Amino acid sequence: MTFGSVKFFKALILTVIGLMILVPTVGCVVLKVENSRLQDQFIQVDAENVIYENKIEPGQEMIPYQALYPEMVCKDSPQEKVINPGTVYLTFDDGPTHYTEQILDTLAQYDVKATFFVIGRTGEQSTRLMKRIVDEGHTIGVHTYSHEYLELYRSPEAYLEDFNKIYTLIESNTGVKPEIFRFPGGSINAYNRAVYQEIIAEMMRRGFTYYDWNVSSEDVSANSSQYTVVNNILNKVNHKTHHIVLMHDTNDATMGALPTVIQNLLESGYKLDALTNEVRPSNFLYPRYY
Ligand SMILES: [Zn+2]
Repeated sequence: MTFGSVKFFKALILTVIGLMILVPTVGCVVLKVENSRLQDQFIQVDAENVIYENKIEPGQEMIPYQALYPEMVCKDSPQEKVINPGTVYLTFDDGPTHYTEQILDTLAQYDVKATFFVIGRTGEQSTRLMKRIVDEGHTIGVHTYSHEYLELYRSPEAYLEDFNKIYTLIESNTGVKPEIFRFPGGSINAYNRAVYQEIIAEMMRRGFTYYDWNVSSEDVSANSSQYTVVNNILNKVNHKTHHIVLMHDTNDATMGALPTVIQNLLESGYKLDALTNEVRPSNFLYPRYY
């Protein structure tokens, strides 16, 4: 083949066309592999976001609030938390309410367990439902007594006082000392910027484990419906890690969506379970200021 001949140009054109197809194809494959590697890494980092324990060393001076409510501790708190890929932890905040009754019925119907982060509702219904939660094998956790952001996040002392109220209420209603909790608004929110690090450190020093979430059902958003709750959950779960799903036992959308959510998750091979303090939290990252 001579340089400049028709054959030469034919070969040249074919080579160029070949390269135009080959290069983007190889590029796509490489990017796909890299993308999936980074996603795995992201999930791992997300799940490993456990904040270190803060214990008082002998001789170290105590902060006054550390001496408050000495009985309010969780002695059985494993340091090593596990990731359970393919498990979904449904969690319900702000109950017990009359919706809790029906949610418990649905959970029983499918024989699955869940977690309830309760608030300080008093009265016969609340007492009975807290007990029913525990008796039926679900986990009961602290959400706070008042759920009043401005009051709770005023100071570590205010937070501890509120926590102690709901902690003792749960214990007297159920006989169980709660070991896990969830902050109203999540661990880092617009109301607790000045105090969250101190409160988190103090609660972890006492052995409690807190759980934010990595799937929000958005069930208390203005336009939520049974349909949006189902989709928000089913579109966000995968088998690569475990999922902690935020829901509320306070509205029709959640209650209506629950059977479809459970049925679909079970059919897709997920396990539904109640949280324990052995499960690795999926907590919000501390913001960076640099
Ligand atoms: Zn809440």
